[in-house]
Amino acid sequence: MADESTRLSALLGARSAGPLAKSRDLHTVGDLLEFWPRRYLEHTSDLSSLHVGMYVVAVAEVKTSSTRRMQKRRGEMLNVTITDGTSDVDLTFFKAWGHKEALVPGVTAVFAGEVGMYRGRWQLTHPAYQVLEGGLGTDAADRGPIPVYLQVKGMQNWAVAECVRIVFDHLESVPEPLPAKLRSRHGLPGRLEALKGIHVPRAFSDVQRARHRLRYEEALVFQTLLARRRAEQAAERTRARTPREGGLLAAFDARLPFELTAGQREVGEVLAQEMARDTPMNRLLQGEVGSGKTVIALRAMLAAVDAGGQAALLAPTEVLAAQHHRSITTMLGDLAEGGMLGGSDIGTRVALLTGSQSTATRRQNLLDAASGDAGIVVGTHALIQEHVQFQDLALVVVDEQHRFGVEQRDALRGKGTQPPHVLVMTATPIPRTVTMTVFGDMETSTLTELPRGRSPITTHVVPADRPAWVQRTWERIAEEVRSGRQAYVVCPRIGDGDGGGSAGSAVGSPDDEEIAAPDADEGEEASPREMAGVYAVEATLRESPALEGVSIAVLHGRMAPEDKDAVMSAFTRGEIDVLVSTTVIEVGVDVPNATVMVVVDADRFGVSQLHQLRGRVGRGRHAGLCLLMTASEAEASRERLDAVAGTTDGFELARLDLQLRGTGDVLSGRQSGGGRSGRGMGRGSFRFLSLVRDEEIILQAREDAVSLVAADPGLAGHPELLAAVRDRVDAEQAAFLERG
Ligand code: ADP
Ligand code: MG
Repeated sequence: MADESTRLSALLGARSAGPLAKSRDLHTVGDLLEFWPRRYLEHTSDLSSLHVGMYVVAVAEVKTSSTRRMQKRRGEMLNVTITDGTSDVDLTFFKAWGHKEALVPGVTAVFAGEVGMYRGRWQLTHPAYQVLEGGLGTDAADRGPIPVYLQVKGMQNWAVAECVRIVFDHLESVPEPLPAKLRSRHGLPGRLEALKGIHVPRAFSDVQRARHRLRYEEALVFQTLLARRRAEQAAERTRARTPREGGLLAAFDARLPFELTAGQREVGEVLAQEMARDTPMNRLLQGEVGSGKTVIALRAMLAAVDAGGQAALLAPTEVLAAQHHRSITTMLGDLAEGGMLGGSDIGTRVALLTGSQSTATRRQNLLDAASGDAGIVVGTHALIQEHVQFQDLALVVVDEQHRFGVEQRDALRGKGTQPPHVLVMTATPIPRTVTMTVFGDMETSTLTELPRGRSPITTHVVPADRPAWVQRTWERIAEEVRSGRQAYVVCPRIGDGDGGGSAGSAVGSPDDEEIAAPDADEGEEASPREMAGVYAVEATLRESPALEGVSIAVLHGRMAPEDKDAVMSAFTRGEIDVLVSTTVIEVGVDVPNATVMVVVDADRFGVSQLHQLRGRVGRGRHAGLCLLMTASEAEASRERLDAVAGTTDGFELARLDLQLRGTGDVLSGRQSGGGRSGRGMGRGSFRFLSLVRDEEIILQAREDAVSLVAADPGLAGHPELLAAVRDRVDAEQAAFLERG
């Protein structure tokens, strides 16, 4: 007898176990059972009623088979005629090898392919097929759908199916992680039955039932893990932060030049309440670019200071940290000059900590943080790794979550005996399935409205191979500049000999922007096009007659920090008209006077990333314009760009991104490269569950998990579920270690 941990080699022998291990990394019975067929063949059509273009799947017998040498190319081609007793169809294989041995007269198989017509006869070119052992005999009709597995090198599909059947012969029972109550409530088959439904279905409805059950199981295990984690967090204790009356927050509110939106007020209240509890706050705030998250964060930080503590604001890049520092000190005015001559009595200090500061400045800022003189400390994510000392850290705000890893979040939470309250902000709209999984251990708030007075953004796709369009693009920039506005031109790479644009080659410190990676779906193009570099584009712009007299500057992550800062400040002050940059401006940069953005080689960016980028324009009183330039002829990239041009609904685009590029990307803006099928998974990566398709399953599982854990926190009554949860935790830790 076998169970899921049994080695395949013990059960199947080396001839089968070898290829399964080598080609697909399948070593145990459990591995093989998780190796789901990619699709199923069902013989549904017969050969007497065909039409060109139809996809036919039919059982038929090989009538004749012949090979012939090809004239122009090496090798031979194979012509086969099949019949189902009523009609004949010709098959053509341009490579006979591997097929002529299988398709000999008398053999019966299921054939699948698109019907064509050649010289007046029906034809299938390179059809998929599966030989049926035992011919067309009586059992052919009541065979279920035939599973088609991903190719295993060195094994035929039928041999894989045979291995699975052998495994089932030896498998008496498997653990059942689903509580019986839930199974009966949702009408789900048992685990063993479901596994059989996947691999040896009698009908396709078996497959559907089985898939549903196993997806629900995966969702329930994960949601149970999250529910337990939330319960643990709820049991943690920290200091409640109750701000004193008439402090910094009140003074700040009194001088706020605008009125808070209803959403901002609401979220503000939630944060105040949670910080006033002795359970650490752990909240995700999502809101479109420009929805006013920074003000919310600042108000929470002021409340923390009013409660006698300190707040840290972490940004993903030095540019952003510096910008936050600048805008916070400006907004606070004399409130940020605590202890200084002319500063407000109730004021505090805002320290900036970046790696590029002079030693003296840095030492002073470190001192201010440690002594508590600085109520607010702004820095990059490195702040938490560098063991910066605080007098009494009450609140940590993390800006732009999608660059801030889950692990870093955990590190933060685990800091000290008195964990800080945590607010994470993201401008990438996150589909609900993702908040319920990847961020499932946090509470979430969403800002849905934009502050009044925001202008709309129009987006167009510009084909780069049309000189007139390109010309017009530069003219549009010139027009905006003439009416006093500014422009961004964004490029996928830096280009001063940064290694030919290979993705990631230039990424050194966390402060470097990520160079957009070439799309995975661009296989259609013969050789990868060179991506536009900042310096090359700058040169083009300088030579363009349309832009004569316009001041142009360059910004990218490998410039010296003080140069970056100088350029950014000059652009903010309006001294630079056109900023040619990499995605270093992607997040959070706020220059309301910038109205046009041109993205060069836009196809090199992800959907959400483009949406994020264009959020930099249209932030002021003037309408924004975004021009997505592309030289790609790949249909897929054109479709993506059209989608971005077609909607400004970030949630819709995030969903699309999720569909196209997978979770990792939505969250990190870089290629996720999911790795082998399901192994080495990290949080939010699933074997069978799809965050696009399975929203309902995930919702249901979450609800069920919450009540399960509420009733039985230790899962004492559900040992097999507990074991599955532990396995999942192990898999995540392994994945984390692997990523380093
Ligand atoms: P986010 O961080 O969500 O992208 P910000 O907080 O940077 O957005 O806000 C964008 C701009 O809108 C800032 O200039 C900010 O001062 C302004 N702003 C924020 N809230 C409001 C409001 N309620 N009314 C008007 N302007 C606002
Ligand atoms: Mg922001």
